[in-house]
Amino acid sequence: APEKEKTSNVAKIKVVVRKRPLNKKELTKNEEDIITVEPHSNSLTVHETKLKVDLTEYMEKHEFVFDAVLNEEVSNDEVYHETVEPIVPIIFQRTKATCFAYGQTGSGKTFTMKPLPLKASRDILRLVNHTYRSQGFQLYFSFFEIYGGKLFDLLNDRKKLCMREDGSKQVCIVGLQEYKVSDVETIKELIERGNATRSTGTTGANEESSRSHAILQLVVKRSVDGSGSKPPRVVGKLSFIDLAGSERGADTTDNDKQTRMEGAEINKSLLALKECIRALDNDQGHIPFRGSKLTEVLRDSFVGNSRTVMISCISPNAGSCEHTLNTLRYADRVK
Ligand code: ADP
Ligand code: MG
Repeated sequence: APEKEKTSNVAKIKVVVRKRPLNKKELTKNEEDIITVEPHSNSLTVHETKLKVDLTEYMEKHEFVFDAVLNEEVSNDEVYHETVEPIVPIIFQRTKATCFAYGQTGSGKTFTMKPLPLKASRDILRLVNHTYRSQGFQLYFSFFEIYGGKLFDLLNDRKKLCMREDGSKQVCIVGLQEYKVSDVETIKELIERGNATRSTGTTGANEESSRSHAILQLVVKRSVDGSGSKPPRVVGKLSFIDLAGSERGADTTDNDKQTRMEGAEINKSLLALKECIRALDNDQGHIPFRGSKLTEVLRDSFVGNSRTVMISCISPNAGSCEHTLNTLRYADRVK
């Protein structure tokens, strides 16, 4: 079908790894950078220090290859160019695309994700206002989070939301505030506001945001008639997911019941996500959405004409070695 041909030049699944620089604390502690990145071969190596039974040290190397590997010098502009930019035009061709940031807390997920929707909106609005001028396209913005398996609106006082599926299997989030947006300034404000509203939990500690998945959606709709009497129809959707810290999925033996439950939910959702992305590759395959709230919410982005970009964020320091290997193995299973 011509529709399919048009979009086939952008890979269905792209897995990119981004390494952040050593931070002040790690430098002060003289921590070693154990990651070497070879951009030309899209590969990276983790140099793990291990101990023999006689307590002498030896080095074990783990090499991985991905669609792209980005070292600590790569700018956010370059990240955009490598990940989301190629997808923007196909949103206008009935595509649903999702960009995930995966990794342990502190690895750079939010740093990486925050600028992407703004850059994407700029490009989308350019298409709406120039290339597709007067064709009735409109951009909508929403931002919510999944915390402990429940949905909360980040742009409406953390109002609790619920999910429904309409007759045509479109996911509908009941009560979610959708903002019609036409300028980048407004979008910038909405992103700031949503990020500031992310879950701070009962302790009020900011790190609680590492237990939630933040979902920012840019939806392109089109009015079918000029009079505006019919509601505009969804054409395409671009979702940005700042996932919960991957290490939180291991909080399933914690002493605190709440923490344990949240850990179990995060573990379940990250496993279900991996399975859903893997199922994208073989079109006929059964897609296991039902596994978690996260994958249920993204259900309509896993079927039909869909694209997925996974940005796996890693910390370079020796102390993060185990988490880094877990992140890279997860990314390796997805690609
Ligand atoms: P996460 O969201 O995964 O918990 P953050 O995005 O909050 O991690 O990043 C942790 C810290 O590291 C922040 O202070 C952030 O500014 C910094 N940081 C992350 N990635 C980079 C990078 N590529 N370059 C410079 N600083 C970074
Ligand atoms: Mg974060």
